[in-house]
Amino acid sequence: MMSKKIIGIGALSCGFLLLAIVVGIRCYAGVKPSLKLSNNSSVLTLSSLGFSTRVSSINQSSALSDSENNKSKPSDVAENQAVPILYYHSVAVEAGNELRIPPDQFEAQMAYLQNKGYQSVSLDQFYQAEYHGGTLPAKPFVITFDDGYVDNYTTALPILKKHGFTATIFMVSSYINGEGFLTWPQLTELAANGWQIEGHTVDHPYLSKMDAATVLSELKNSKEVLEKGLGYPVDFFAYPYGDFNDKVVLAVKNTGYLLAVTTERGWADHKEDEWHVHRVYCFANMGMNEFSRRLQNPKY
Ligand SMILES: [Zn+2]
Repeated sequence: MMSKKIIGIGALSCGFLLLAIVVGIRCYAGVKPSLKLSNNSSVLTLSSLGFSTRVSSINQSSALSDSENNKSKPSDVAENQAVPILYYHSVAVEAGNELRIPPDQFEAQMAYLQNKGYQSVSLDQFYQAEYHGGTLPAKPFVITFDDGYVDNYTTALPILKKHGFTATIFMVSSYINGEGFLTWPQLTELAANGWQIEGHTVDHPYLSKMDAATVLSELKNSKEVLEKGLGYPVDFFAYPYGDFNDKVVLAVKNTGYLLAVTTERGWADHKEDEWHVHRVYCFANMGMNEFSRRLQNPKY
């Protein structure tokens, strides 16, 4: 009786041991891909592109957040793909101004994206997926427009509608209703069409050159004006001229924004923190080859 019980316990322990080994192997196999991904360091790649001192300090912070991600986030989040966030300004013809992309070129780019099966996602979807474990469709990309040119409504909206895409506008709040810029009714209609209207300061200054009080009022006042006019929270921000430093980043965070996009080149990846999100610059006469090259290589 006694020995049978001992044998029984022995067999049971062996069973547990075997189970533990099997589970251990499975867990290891499950974790391995995410480790492999995180070894693909962004530091090397960016520094090999010859970025400035400011970028190398960003790299250090992204290296830090990398190791934090490995500790705290489940492997499926670590495996989220990088997403190209395209950025434009104006869709119009003006010779010699690369910020104004002619409508036919913009149309060709959107047709290319649709034909290749890309699906536009909102900045909010991107944020949730990259930083909070949400999901994205296959071949996701984000379209953004800086400053709030009126042609974003008159020209870009019908083109994007035709292709089933939406976009985000980073609106300079003092430009609203100004000549050549969007009006409140246009902004409201864009929002009703699934577009997001987000923050880009009051006056579009170089924030790193402003004193702390001005930085704060630029961020706070523009956010409040947009929220009051649109009736929903304004959570995302674009640094004017892509200009920022550590103090500016802190002020953006303290104003209550959830994420800020830069003009640093490359696809957006959660290996960079929420305050240093990269974008893909799109400009007049870039050509379809260059456009498609930037959509094929996350570190183009
Ligand atoms: Zn701007």
